Amino acid sequence: MLFRQLFDYETYTYTYLVADPESGEAALIDPVIEQVERDLKLLQELGLTLKYCLETHVHADHVTGTSRLREKTNCLGIVPQGAEVACADRSVTDGEVLNVGSIEIQAIATPGHTDSHMAFLANGTHLFTGDALFIRGCGRTDFQSGDAGTLYDSIQKLFRLPPETLVYPGHDYRGQMVSTIAEEKQFNPRLKGDRQAFVHLMDNLNLPDPKKIMEAVPANQACGNV
Ligand code: FE
Repeated sequence: MLFRQLFDYETYTYTYLVADPESGEAALIDPVIEQVERDLKLLQELGLTLKYCLETHVHADHVTGTSRLREKTNCLGIVPQGAEVACADRSVTDGEVLNVGSIEIQAIATPGHTDSHMAFLANGTHLFTGDALFIRGCGRTDFQSGDAGTLYDSIQKLFRLPPETLVYPGHDYRGQMVSTIAEEKQFNPRLKGDRQAFVHLMDNLNLPDPKKIMEAVPANQACGNV
């Protein structure tokens, strides 16, 4: 499996490229509109055909690159079932498997940050956790359709994956790039206590709203067509 981790330094967003070198088919997970040219250049350099743009959720902090990538490549924009994105080509349901050449990408419903959030497990080894599970942290649950108890349950579901599963988050604000399920189970400070403790912690973070929330959510419901 060809794999690249890409970063948007404005919004601390990771975009992931997963591709099958044999067939040349590729998928991008959570592309960012400002980085579309970068992503297109990389696809071209590596001789890849973009088949899917996958969204883990409707983002509040950045605008998706899906619409522009779709215009240039005719890829399909895929969102979690239940996400209110009428322009998406299709949605995925919990447990559904998408094929990118010989690579299997499995959708795992992980609501809590938003009510339709999905993680994606590629090849059984690389888990793209979106804003459910971060490295030593997790996504916030205090806006959109977030719910702390639901996120706790979703993270427990991810914690039942094999311990060596690689964890690639949707964001990182401290320069961390990859972790494992075993590492997060042991060291993630938000998951030290029980469900009730987690809900209490999440309900008292008092975070400021993301800078782009007013524009990003409606833009992403339009596939980033701004
Ligand atoms: Fe988010």
